[in-house]
Amino acid sequence: MSDPYAWIEQSLATIHRADWYRSVQTIEGCPGATVLLQGQEVINFASNDYLGLAGDERLILAATAAVQEFGTGSTGSRLLSGHKKIHRELEKAIASLKQTEDAVVFSSGYLANLGAITALVSKRDLILADQYNHSSLKNGAILSGAKIVEYPHCDVEAVKSELQRLRPDYRRCLIATDSVFSMDGDLCPLPALIDLAQEFSCMLLVDEAHATGVLGKTGAGCVEHFGCTGKQLVQIGTLSKALGSLGGYVAGSATLIDYLRNRAPSWIYTTALSPADTAAALAAINIIQQEPQRRTQLWKNVDYLKNLIHQYLPNLKLLPSQSPILCLEFAKATDALQAGNQLKSAGIFAPAIRPPTVPTSRIRISLMATHEQTHINKLIEQLSLTFH
Ligand code: PMP
Repeated sequence: MSDPYAWIEQSLATIHRADWYRSVQTIEGCPGATVLLQGQEVINFASNDYLGLAGDERLILAATAAVQEFGTGSTGSRLLSGHKKIHRELEKAIASLKQTEDAVVFSSGYLANLGAITALVSKRDLILADQYNHSSLKNGAILSGAKIVEYPHCDVEAVKSELQRLRPDYRRCLIATDSVFSMDGDLCPLPALIDLAQEFSCMLLVDEAHATGVLGKTGAGCVEHFGCTGKQLVQIGTLSKALGSLGGYVAGSATLIDYLRNRAPSWIYTTALSPADTAAALAAINIIQQEPQRRTQLWKNVDYLKNLIHQYLPNLKLLPSQSPILCLEFAKATDALQAGNQLKSAGIFAPAIRPPTVPTSRIRISLMATHEQTHINKLIEQLSLTFH
């Protein structure tokens, strides 16, 4: 009898041969602008902790107090034994930040996308999705059973012509897009997508994972940045990036949220968000509203780095970005890998991202409000030495 698991080893070998093998690296201590990576102190340009809140004393205290009061585990799903008053407090705080009627929290942003998409569309429906959407949107679309059409990145004309061609053949239509594209740093053309959604009677789902806390005057995200607050949207997000915790959410109309509580399997059939994560996220929402200076500092850092790149590294290709995610593109994966390794030896953590994760190889730099100018100067110095 042949070993039914033997193929796994062969498959891993194929991944190794293609140079696509991924392995984890250990970070020690509290998150921050500098961290210990495999025992080496590095300046951290690989974190989603945009506002530097993941190690903030107030989040730590809130999480600790929640554990003392409610214990470590939620013990059940929200509809059975898992629902706590802090879950509703957090949902109300998210709705207030987003200026939506209501919100519902999931155990992760990934699960929020899976749950919302599978609840909103199915076999008789159409999904129009940006080709660079995050994996959770892509897999949610597949899981829903709807017809999926991916449009070229941010191409509004393509969305329009697909809607003209296909919309009449389908019952419901969902346009789904990241708001900040996580591996590029650019923004979706939200106002134009809202217009098209209205013209063709489509729902519009926008994933604010990298925008919440970062974009918009009050940190509400890309929707606020584009002046689209109050529009009928399905807003998804995560509690794990600028909010420094763990979990995800959907924000929107009271009817939408009520429906999701009854129809989103990744909410109904999973254990409620842990007390510690819930309380930390709640503390973070208060901070992002009360301390806009964190956002101001983050954007100062973005401008500072962009200017230095233009000034000192004119030969490197900076991908268009309107966010704290800045990517330097390389023609060859080996060049990007080499650059990533050289930066790491110099104490700078800015990893190379390669196909198949992204279409072209790049060094991805993620800025935080807590980066100091000296950190950014060091990155530029090192890049200049490598690419002078
Ligand atoms: N959407 C986007 C655009 C993301 O980048 C991520 C996380 N990388 C997620 C959703 C998933 O969020 P979470 O980590 O909370 O599962």
